[in-house]
Amino acid sequence: MLKFNREIVTGMRDILPHDTALWNWFEAISRRIMERYGYREIRTPIAERASLFERSLGEETDVALKEIYSWIDQQQLNRALFKVRDVAYETNSKISKHESPPRERLLQLMDSGEFDDIAERIRICLRPEATASVVRAYIDHGMYLNPGLTKLYYVGPMFRRERPQKGRYRQFYQIGAEVLGQSDAPAIDAELIEMLVVLLGECKIEKWTLLLNSIGCKECRPKYVAALRRELAAVKETVCGDCQRRIETNPLRVLDCKVPQDQPIIAKLPSISEHLCAACRAHFAELEAQLKLREIPYTITPRLVRGLDYYMRTTFEITSPVLGAQNALVGGGRYDGLAELLGGQPTKGIGFALGTDRFIEAIREAGKVDAALRVDVFIAWLGGPASAQVYPTAVRIARKLRAAGLCVELPPEEMKLKKSLGLADKLGARYALILGENEIAAGKFVLKRLSDAQQRELSEGELAGFLRAGTGKANH
Ligand code: AMP
Repeated sequence: MLKFNREIVTGMRDILPHDTALWNWFEAISRRIMERYGYREIRTPIAERASLFERSLGEETDVALKEIYSWIDQQQLNRALFKVRDVAYETNSKISKHESPPRERLLQLMDSGEFDDIAERIRICLRPEATASVVRAYIDHGMYLNPGLTKLYYVGPMFRRERPQKGRYRQFYQIGAEVLGQSDAPAIDAELIEMLVVLLGECKIEKWTLLLNSIGCKECRPKYVAALRRELAAVKETVCGDCQRRIETNPLRVLDCKVPQDQPIIAKLPSISEHLCAACRAHFAELEAQLKLREIPYTITPRLVRGLDYYMRTTFEITSPVLGAQNALVGGGRYDGLAELLGGQPTKGIGFALGTDRFIEAIREAGKVDAALRVDVFIAWLGGPASAQVYPTAVRIARKLRAAGLCVELPPEEMKLKKSLGLADKLGARYALILGENEIAAGKFVLKRLSDAQQRELSEGELAGFLRAGTGKANH
């Protein structure tokens, strides 16, 4: 028999209680801020048809198609094969109505390219990102009928089969927001960025850089890409293998290359800013004015690109110097052509996705947020066999204090006082409540502050109010 292997899957990780406290804090503050800016949450499934991303991502993008976890839905495959057979009977003279073609033959037919519309329906994948899902949902649910702009946010895991390293996982988490509708006013872009700056502030992350660029539009970008291709053709032999391929498939991605030897060559390439049309230049100038109005510092980075046709104008990234090689905290940009590409009406759109894993890392580095959850009060109860009252009283008090918002530990079994207090200390409890027969008889309980052993006696009615004040929860 094979030895049981308990190892976690490559690129996946557990997030333990020590960390989830900060994760939950971060997710809660992100939601609060986005909701204040008028964004509402959307929850899309983590599985989608693979074709959704094949269509929206294309080749040579940030998320390579080979990184997507996809599989064939077997049940749907069987149904699809019936359809292939029926269509084949109608259209394919090589299949006779009198014989039922074997499964292999049907699979071959399906692979032939003739049945792509059927084949497309049965490949499912784990989402590598959520913008395409959000835009799909926007179209599916007729959100274009909403008054004004539709502002959506999402929180959840994404999956990419990347080479794992620090800050790069195969299941990672993103929080993102999208603004969809009929306006592409630069103020939308600037307000979206402002929202991120507010979030960075709440997280007390002081060291960050906003990289900003415009990548033009359908009018001006093709001319730039053609110029880029011309320049690159001349130096083709000197760039890395990936870039040689990109010259053909998507020259813009060359600008993104991280290979050190390519950098001097890339530095000499023409810059998109010199090729923007008048409308794109005006959009970018207004975006700059809008950012200045909000006192948000930025660095124009002509090499910051997105490789797809539906991306246009504003692109931005927020990086953090404390993160090492994977230093991007947030990526975002305009994608005015995406809804149309996915079969919807022309719609303007802009959004961002932030990497939660990396934000958490940056918050820890900054070291100014304490989200740890603490036990407020440990109930040290001791009744002895004679007492029928002690434990029921402890249960009642625990329930009351929890209802008042306090975190209460109530040991399930009786312990000696010394052991109880020892455990309360190890758990980091703020207070211990000593509850025995004498206390019940007197109607007064001893509350001990564990940081300095200061004790006071309180009645049952006074406990909740005192503890809320003592643990800083009175104002919540
Ligand atoms: P993207 O969707 O590729 O534009 O990424 C947006 C953000 O998600 C990045 O800036 C990162 O913070 C984060 N991110 C992307 N890929 C990963 C990954 N494999 N592991 C952790 N975070 C990631």
